[in-house]
Amino acid sequence: MKVTVLVGGVGGARFLLGVKAALGLPAVGPGEGPHEVTAVVNVGDDVWMHGLRICPDLDTCMYTLGGGIDSERGWGRAGETWAVRDELAAYEADPTWFGLGDRDVATHLVRTRMLRAGYPLSQVTEALCHRWKPGVRLLPATDDRVETHVVIDNPEPAEDAPPQIAVHFQEWWVRHQAKFPAHRFASVGAEEAKVLPAAAQAIAEADVVLVAPSNPVVSIGTMIQVPGMPQALVGTKAKIVGLSPIVGGRPLRGMADACLSAIGVDTTAEAVGRHYGGRAKGGLLDGWLVHSGDTAEVEGAETRAVPLLMTDVEATADMARAAFELAGVTP
Ligand code: GDP
Ligand code: CA
Repeated sequence: MKVTVLVGGVGGARFLLGVKAALGLPAVGPGEGPHEVTAVVNVGDDVWMHGLRICPDLDTCMYTLGGGIDSERGWGRAGETWAVRDELAAYEADPTWFGLGDRDVATHLVRTRMLRAGYPLSQVTEALCHRWKPGVRLLPATDDRVETHVVIDNPEPAEDAPPQIAVHFQEWWVRHQAKFPAHRFASVGAEEAKVLPAAAQAIAEADVVLVAPSNPVVSIGTMIQVPGMPQALVGTKAKIVGLSPIVGGRPLRGMADACLSAIGVDTTAEAVGRHYGGRAKGGLLDGWLVHSGDTAEVEGAETRAVPLLMTDVEATADMARAAFELAGVTP
C-alpha cells in the first residue's frame, strides 16, 4: 500500500510514527515490507539564521523518525548542547531568540553547503536522510521558497514607525510566542513556487492520502496552496482523510488557535474540518476524524469520532488505522 501523508513538524512527525507502526514498520528507523510511506512536508517555517538554512518541519520529521529527536521538547536533537547559541549571544549576534543547538547546527551546515552548491532542497533532504534513515520518504512540498510571514501590530510603536509590520513566522512564533495577534499571513514566494513533482506524483499514485493532525493554517494551509498542489489533491483517485489537531476545542502542544483566529476559523474540530472542506463540495477531505466526544458535520466528507491523542506509538497507530478504515483501504 502507498500512503502519502501531508505533515508539518511536531504533530506531523508523531503521527508518522503511528502510520509506520500501523503498516507493520518499525516506528523509528528503516524497515522492510510491502508498504511505502511518503511524507510531504511543510516548508513555510524555513528560515535563514546566521547564514544557515533551517528547515524546522523537515528536521523535526527527520530526527523523530530517525531516532535523533529530543522527545521531551519535541524538536531539536537529543543530548543537545548550546555552546554555539551562547557564543552567538556573547557577540550579541541577532537573532538571539532562536535556539540553535550545537548538534543541530551540523545539519544546517551540511544543508546550507549543499544548497549553495546548487542542490535543490529535496536532494539535500535525501542526502541528510542517508544518515537518519527515517523509513519514510521525506519530500519538501516544494523546492522553491515559500515562507510564512505574519502581519502584526508593530511591537515597538513610534510616531514615524509603521503601525503594522510583517515578520517571519518564526519570529512571531518563537520570539513573541504568538502574543501579538496576527492580522494575516503571507506566503512569500508562493506565487512563483511549484509543487515538488515527486510530491505531486506521490499524491497521484497513493492508495490513500492522509492529512496529519498538524497546524491547519501554517503547516497544512501553507502546503496546500503551493501552485500545483490543489490540482494534485483534486486529481488523485485516493481517498483523502484528515485528522483533527483540535481536541475538545483546543490545540495540543502549541498555539494553533492563534493562527486559526487570524483567518477567522473557530478552534473546533468542526470548524477546521469545514475550513478544509468536503471533497464532494470542492474541498480537501473525503473523511475527517475528530476526537471522541467531539462532533463535526462537514458537507461532502464523512466524519467519525475516535481517540486522537498521540500519547504513545500504539495509540497513534490506532489513529492511522481508523483513517485507513474511513478511507476503505486495508494494509
Ligand atoms: P509544528 O510544525 O511543530 O507546529 O507541528 P505541526 O503543525 O505538525 O503540528 C502542530 C499541531 O499538532 C498542533 O496544532 C496540535 O494541536 C497538534 N497535535 C499535537 N499533539 C497532538 C495529539 O496528540 N493529537 C492531536 N489530534 N493533535 C495533536
Ligand atoms: Ca512547523
